[in-house]
Amino acid sequence: MPLPRPIALTLFLITLALPASAAVRLTTSVNGAVVEVEWAASSFPIRYQADQRLLSALPGGAAMLDRAFGAWSSLDRTRLAFQSMGTGSGLVAGHNGLNTVTLSDDLFANQRAIAVTTNWDVQGKLTESDIQVDATLVNSSYNIEQALVHEVGHLLGLDHSPVLSAVMYPYVSRGNDPVSLDSDDRVAITAMYPEIDRTLLGGTLRGRVTGDGGGIFAAQVVAVNEAGVPVATGLTNRTGDFTLEGVPDGKYRIYAEPLDGPVDPRNLSPFWQQGNITSFRTQFHDGAVLEVTSGRVLGNLVVDASGTSDLNPRWVGVSASGSHDFRLTTTALTVQPGQTASIAVAGDGMTPGVATFEILSPGMRRVSPFRYAGNYVYADFQIAPDAPGGSAIILVKRGNEAAALTGALKIAESKGSGRGRIAGRG
Ligand SMILES: [Zn+2]
Repeated sequence: MPLPRPIALTLFLITLALPASAAVRLTTSVNGAVVEVEWAASSFPIRYQADQRLLSALPGGAAMLDRAFGAWSSLDRTRLAFQSMGTGSGLVAGHNGLNTVTLSDDLFANQRAIAVTTNWDVQGKLTESDIQVDATLVNSSYNIEQALVHEVGHLLGLDHSPVLSAVMYPYVSRGNDPVSLDSDDRVAITAMYPEIDRTLLGGTLRGRVTGDGGGIFAAQVVAVNEAGVPVATGLTNRTGDFTLEGVPDGKYRIYAEPLDGPVDPRNLSPFWQQGNITSFRTQFHDGAVLEVTSGRVLGNLVVDASGTSDLNPRWVGVSASGSHDFRLTTTALTVQPGQTASIAVAGDGMTPGVATFEILSPGMRRVSPFRYAGNYVYADFQIAPDAPGGSAIILVKRGNEAAALTGALKIAESKGSGRGRIAGRG
């Protein structure tokens, strides 16, 4: 069972990062207080310049880079804007007043990173950001454009997301599938740089995740809509409190999931590394479906996550129906509407005959019994021709225990359905 090891896109911050809530943001300490870093409104358009050496090594690199910035600035309802300053020669990363994108020869050797973004701020307001791409990435089978979109997310002040399908997920996929921002990325950046009053962008969900020892620090909180899409996520702060802002109107359920892999606190900036990796059971907020309306705050949403569990899915695999030749991976896999696919989930606690899983999408139906091999469980699923496109959640169950793999699957937008692509994607 080959387990490809994705290469981490790591992040290097000059400033010291400290606490926050809501969508995972980079933070800094200003006079002892925690501040989320961001660009001031007066910084836009943010100008960037690419080094000739990078563009020579990367055919089509200039257009690819413009698309990577454009993926963020083309989103509706944000005030993001970028301006390319073209190509320079002999550009180097470093604090020099220019936002540069350059080629590096030693990131991979020194930091095991294939791309890195370095941010500088004054009192939490970003003043400069440099993206470095290692030569290893340019010559690899990894999705280079995805890596660039990811680094631009750091440039804007986003930390990593534990959602597998998010661009801000810390591992890059192989291949060259078109890159589109995930709902989690879009909600996070829109709430950060709103074009309109932030409180009118969507609804706000507030609450607390509690475990055996009180509030749980660095638990992942996920708002799932009726189509089973993990629309918005965030992490709890030190006291176990969470805030999800800018949640689009609709009906939601929320659940809390431990940050125990594939993403754990070590994938995040220093503040989050103080979080406990408590392996509680994935728990849904117990109560009525939440009706989210723009401008409204739904508060006091308590998720009781007491007890522990060793059930921990970490890999996913997709193969042709009837085939059991899974290449398990920790990055999101895409399935096509109309397809029947064999889907595997691997990890800890996949007890044969007991562990099962469901996919929280109304467009996916299981059509075979569960089968078991090694540390994984698999079954065939039929994806409806009109299945709603977007990210999907795999929920593994064992008795009364549950564990989620959030965003492990992406359902491709159905072809020929007459529907356009979702605004702001692509
Ligand atoms: Zn990163």
